[in-house]
Amino acid sequence: METTRSGFLNDEGPRVKFCSRCGCRIPVTSPYELCKECMKKELFPKVKEFINENYDVNEMMISQEFGIDRSIVHEWVTEGHLEYRKRLEF
Ligand SMILES: [Zn+2]
Repeated sequence: METTRSGFLNDEGPRVKFCSRCGCRIPVTSPYELCKECMKKELFPKVKEFINENYDVNEMMISQEFGIDRSIVHEWVTEGHLEYRKRLEF
């Protein structure tokens, strides 16, 4: 059931918000304006670059640098999208 004006049950306002890029629903508790997918599309290349430039980075550093949650960074790593300590020959 989709009602946009059900102000009776929740005093805190709408319980959902929408990704500012693709418009899909994201949890209202999310501190971000993007859904995880869009966040990945947007930030992933930058994160990867960051890792390549600073080979000794960890999840904490990435999360601080990009203002994203550590759990998200961790997710990317466990999904195999990111690799730490990649050996780069300069
Ligand atoms: Zn999105």
